[in-house]
Amino acid sequence: MANKLLMAKTPEEAAGAKTLTAVFLAGGTEVNRLGSDIAETADTLISLKKCAGLSGISEDTGYTEIGSMCTFQDLVEADKTPGWLKEAALFMASRTKRNMATIGGNIAAARDDSYLIPALSAAAAVIELMGSDGKTKRTGIREYTDGGFDGMLITKVIVPSNIKLVSKRYSNTAQSHAVLTMSASLTEDGIHMHGAVKNAGLLHFCDLEKRFSEEPSVSEQEIIDMVRTCTGLETADDMFGSDAYKRYLIAVTAYDLNRQLRGKEA
Ligand SMILES: Cc1cc2nc3c(=O)[nH]c(=O)nc-3n(C[C@H](O)[C@H](O)[C@H](O)COP(=O)(O)OP(=O)(O)OC[C@H]3O[C@@H](n4cnc5c(N)ncnc54)[C@H](O)[C@@H]3O)c2cc1C
Repeated sequence: MANKLLMAKTPEEAAGAKTLTAVFLAGGTEVNRLGSDIAETADTLISLKKCAGLSGISEDTGYTEIGSMCTFQDLVEADKTPGWLKEAALFMASRTKRNMATIGGNIAAARDDSYLIPALSAAAAVIELMGSDGKTKRTGIREYTDGGFDGMLITKVIVPSNIKLVSKRYSNTAQSHAVLTMSASLTEDGIHMHGAVKNAGLLHFCDLEKRFSEEPSVSEQEIIDMVRTCTGLETADDMFGSDAYKRYLIAVTAYDLNRQLRGKEA
């Protein structure tokens, strides 16, 4: 159980204090969540709340830079936040939680029902990270969620300002865990599809991207059959739904998102 609280004043101080038994504390909605063992297994919490330089949203030649301590509510309220990111931030239905939870905390939590990671992945967001030596480096969000960056402080998130991107989230109520959150973008390289599937993980739907790029008007039934028989997809029967239901949901959502992006609302 954590018994030390360090109020870091700079990102360098926070990153330098990180050890195996110390955890960063941003909004605290995941660290202090009932059932979360993050604070339980740590001895030190490194609070980022008074850390200079981790807030603010600015725009620079086609890109929007977002400080990792920006809350979901900051994202919703800022003029400079791209519309697709505001939409994803509003998946967090509770305003109280939006006032606390940060974009950095959401990315680091990397949950299988993540509010923001599907949209950030479809946008090919770039994450700026700081190591314990105070040096920063940048990596794509997809590489970040693949792992290997444990212990590094997220300082900034950089996203394209003008990308065509649509998202969908399914849950029993606005406050419940989502069985599926899915986002797709359309760029000159083709379509990009990412999702968070409860109990299956953060997924990149490469086969669907390929199929929609080969034949943009492919039929819904063909997509349903393709996902139903896909061997690379590890969904399972659980309290969120059967394997068959999750596959059906992924397929019809992919089909709808593709149509929306191409201006053919389903
Ligand atoms: C009832 C409830 C329901 C929830 N439902 C969902 C949900 O459906 N989907 C979802 O995505 N989340 C959900 N959450 C979790 C949480 O609210 C969000 O993930 C939130 O965005 C976390 O942000 P935070 O700032 O509160 O992070 P914190 O709780 O402060 O931290 C979360 C993790 O990120 C690390 N961290 C924080 N900031 C940084 C940083 N800058 N650099 C590196 N590591 C950092 C922390 O050490 C910790 O491991 C839920 C929480 C609650 C209480």
